[in-house]
Amino acid sequence: MKALRLEAWHTPAVLRDVEVPEPGPGEVLVQVAGSGACHSDLHLMHEFGAGQLPWGPPFTLGHENAGWVHTIGAGVRGLEPGQPVAVVGAWGCGTCARCRADLETYCDHPERTPAPGGGGGLGLDGGMAEYLLVPDARHLVVLPEGLDPVHAAPLTDAALTPYHAIRRSWSKLNPTSTAVVIGVGGLGHLGVQVLRATTPARVIAVDMRESSRDLARRSGADVALPPGPDLAGQVREATEGLGADVVLDFVGSDETLSAAAGMARHLADITIVGLGGGTLPVSFFSPPYEVSVQSTYWGNRHELVEVLDLASRGLLQAEVETYALEEAVTVYERLAAGTIDGRAVIVPSTFYRP
Ligand SMILES: [Zn+2]
Ligand SMILES: [Zn+2]
Repeated sequence: MKALRLEAWHTPAVLRDVEVPEPGPGEVLVQVAGSGACHSDLHLMHEFGAGQLPWGPPFTLGHENAGWVHTIGAGVRGLEPGQPVAVVGAWGCGTCARCRADLETYCDHPERTPAPGGGGGLGLDGGMAEYLLVPDARHLVVLPEGLDPVHAAPLTDAALTPYHAIRRSWSKLNPTSTAVVIGVGGLGHLGVQVLRATTPARVIAVDMRESSRDLARRSGADVALPPGPDLAGQVREATEGLGADVVLDFVGSDETLSAAAGMARHLADITIVGLGGGTLPVSFFSPPYEVSVQSTYWGNRHELVEVLDLASRGLLQAEVETYALEEAVTVYERLAAGTIDGRAVIVPSTFYRP
């Protein structure tokens, strides 16, 4: 089968022929319907180097995956060939306390997994191929009625990650609250939709690109701002001087974090989701009193069940552009150039619909 491979650090991914894997005991082979092209893959191709992560190339990219159960290994119960499934992407050890509590992103014993802190497309072979070997049936969520696996694929990260980040701030998102989404790309536009679908808060979206601001408005943002030199001031002005109760920074640069601290109200949450590599100085006077700053990583299985449920009811919908596997290299070039709105999903060319 064809697969989009990362063969070495600091190189773009390449299309190669690889063997179709066979599922062993407990494993499931998924025929891939769609695999989302994520900005973090660009970080893998161009920024990470030897020794920075506990795993490395070669592996097949694609960590936002959905498809159909194709073949099940010995001992797998509750799944049947042809069932549409989404793949939970973070693969922990499965037996520690955190994994048992459905927090595999924060597994206590990542060293017991073949790709510590990773999963399919992150150290292990991912879904930018015709088939994806899933090492345990617990990583699969059967899709609810009416949800197409091509559209479900990007939800497993691009919606799940903002959902996890927003869910932990639900108690601060009341009818009189304001949430600010900085960066309206694949994750950001779904972040706006998650805020709209699960909270009564006012939503302000921020993005340099006009097309992204349009996407934010289509996704339900009340206000979409281009960031000027005083972004914090712009947000304060839009909130009658109060500032933001929750800031979700999908960029994570020095500039956006400093703006986030400037726009946060007392008691606010600032959540860093973007891998921009920026830092936020913390002192007694800044950010304001009782502001909590956190980073979050991805989400977990029960949250994916909730995300897919929202999507099946039309409350979340990724803006998806589909591309053949053969076009994947070009898709990442376009993603790097910032010319993709919403989410590009790679659709392997020989897929079928049972
Ligand atoms: Zn991703
Ligand atoms: Zn674990």
